[in-house]
Amino acid sequence: MNRAHVFLGAVASILAAGDAAAAWHEDEAAIMGTGMRLELWLEDEAAARAAIESVWQEMHRIDRLMSTYKEDSEISAVNRHAAARPVEVSRELLDLVGESLELSRLTGGAFDITYASVGYLYDYREGHRPSDQEIAAALPAVDYRHVRLDADASTVSFTAPGVRIDLGGIAKGYAVERAAGLLRGQGVEHAIVTAGGDSRIVGDRRGKPWIVGIRDPRASGRMIARLPLVDEAISTSGDYERFFEADGVRYHHIIAPASGRSARQVRSATVIGPDATRTDGLSTSVFVLGAERGLELIDALPDVEAVIVDSQGRLHYSRGLERPREAT
Ligand code: AMP
Ligand code: MG
Repeated sequence: MNRAHVFLGAVASILAAGDAAAAWHEDEAAIMGTGMRLELWLEDEAAARAAIESVWQEMHRIDRLMSTYKEDSEISAVNRHAAARPVEVSRELLDLVGESLELSRLTGGAFDITYASVGYLYDYREGHRPSDQEIAAALPAVDYRHVRLDADASTVSFTAPGVRIDLGGIAKGYAVERAAGLLRGQGVEHAIVTAGGDSRIVGDRRGKPWIVGIRDPRASGRMIARLPLVDEAISTSGDYERFFEADGVRYHHIIAPASGRSARQVRSATVIGPDATRTDGLSTSVFVLGAERGLELIDALPDVEAVIVDSQGRLHYSRGLERPREAT
């Protein structure tokens, strides 16, 4: 897809908010361990409130299903028992795990939900990281091929001990994609739903594109680019989201499955495409792959584009993107 148009007209569209501001509705929430934001156009006030409420309900529902922090979530049951026996799960969880495994095959294992077999040993809030010995002991469990799905029985099982899975690299994109579907079902034609680094855009901003900024990974509040988008999804994975520093090294939440340590080649990876589940999974993947292999992957896929900030702060764009002017 040629996406050269994507960077055009960024300034003009900022004027979009002028028309009948009363019909624009905005709300924020903290769900799935992240900040969420929703903005939509609906003339009927009560319908707008109902639409917003339905989105937050949906986010809570997905969180109850997929959070590894909740003891009673389906995924926690899988992590407790799937090494011993197949664990029956909802079709929804089965499908998202299936999509994650497909992404693992596509990325040569850069995206791997079993990263959690070592990932759980990190505590970013406490500034705790595993020792070399602990990583070495946990690493054999990191391999998506340990995860077996039985579609007929709707079960997940693990073929090795010590395996854990975590959908943190794809669930927020899935959630905003679901939210967009819910909104469309309620007649919403103009909206943006954001969960952390993942945004799903419904339609345009009433005659103008929506503007989504890409953060400068080392200067909060500063943008390195602003992208005008219509009816698309955009996901950014960054090493500034959850991290701590020790001895001058940044330990952050995106783990290279091969080493069990934070991926080091880039500071942020942004992926734009038609589906937020996919852009979320791909942004995490590209982050792990690095600029060169990441862009190779993105350029081989017909419907997605990427912007990468590498470990030196240099920008890299996929083929369909034109270099934007520096954002101010
Ligand atoms: P994102 O911001 O979408 O890149 O998601 C980051 C989250 O993805 C982390 O907090 C982990 O929960 C999860 N994650 C970390 N490393 C990987 C990996 N190599 N493959 C899949 N998920 C990962
Ligand atoms: Mg992701």
